[in-house]
Amino acid sequence: MHLAIAPRRLRLKRPLETAHGTIAERELLDVLVIGADGIAGAGEAAPLESYDGVALDDVRAALEDCRAIVREADGRPLHQVLADCREAAVLPQAVAALDLALWDREGRRLRASVAALLGGKAGANVAVNAVVGATDPAAAARAATAAAEAGHRCVKLKVGVGDDVARVAAVRAALGPAVALRLDANGAWATPAEAERALRALAPFELVEEPVHGVAALRELQAALPQTAVAMDESGVEPGAVGSGATRLVCLKLTRCGGISGLVEAAEQARAAGSEVFLASTFDGPLGIAGALHAAAAIEPTRPCGLATLSAFADLDLDPALAVEDGFMRVPTGPGLGVRA
Ligand SMILES: [Mg+2]
Repeated sequence: MHLAIAPRRLRLKRPLETAHGTIAERELLDVLVIGADGIAGAGEAAPLESYDGVALDDVRAALEDCRAIVREADGRPLHQVLADCREAAVLPQAVAALDLALWDREGRRLRASVAALLGGKAGANVAVNAVVGATDPAAAARAATAAAEAGHRCVKLKVGVGDDVARVAAVRAALGPAVALRLDANGAWATPAEAERALRALAPFELVEEPVHGVAALRELQAALPQTAVAMDESGVEPGAVGSGATRLVCLKLTRCGGISGLVEAAEQARAAGSEVFLASTFDGPLGIAGALHAAAAIEPTRPCGLATLSAFADLDLDPALAVEDGFMRVPTGPGLGVRA
């Protein structure tokens, strides 16, 4: 198989402020694999250096480490090729790109959606949350109202930035009781005790992502607040973290898990340890979002997923298969990933 790698830049309509910095644009690597039969599959690498500390050039180098494996991949079973890539590429972001491309090609070759190949249902609805990025309480409340009016039943708000108490109160008042309020601290609080104090002042909410960094700190906080739904997110990179059972929930991301195959495996590990799972993106491009939807068809998360992020991009000619309607996205039904990049 031939492997082609090309950079791609996506600009955000508005810069997003988070506890780990401001995101203004995304730089991705588009990956294409073309078999000897002429059938192609497309994937993308979407590292976010300010968030995961992974630079685009390092991902490109990790992809190059897999070039020889891809060259010899014709006729080999998909899972064997992916296992070899996982060993050769040091970065999950690179593995994710190849995983997406190889699954896309496999589906196109078999004229089946990736969801169906995973035992899930193409066309299934996946509930998705909206994200409110505004830090000013009045602007955040207006954005939350717009999200609720668009049909979202869950709205996520970044905390650990500015006056959280005022912003959370304004957004909760705007949403009313029918729409869930999700918080994401991106590890803003330094200790479990600090996080506990902050969360007691912000309650009630649906769940909080990554209030503190580190499996040990998350476990301590979850024990101190047994009624609170704490979700591990960034700390999922620690070895064994996803299957540690430290928190009630685990937020899984395609880029961090090494693609669709990695997401499905991680969900099994988390559930085996008693944690509930949901999926989210790190402002992935359209192929990453499509891959996560196919994985969601197999995983069937019980909470809204953070996959409605494509509308944040300016100048993206969005495939209608990735539209958000009434708070839901649908698992694409076409062959492979079922979308164009
Ligand atoms: Mg998060």
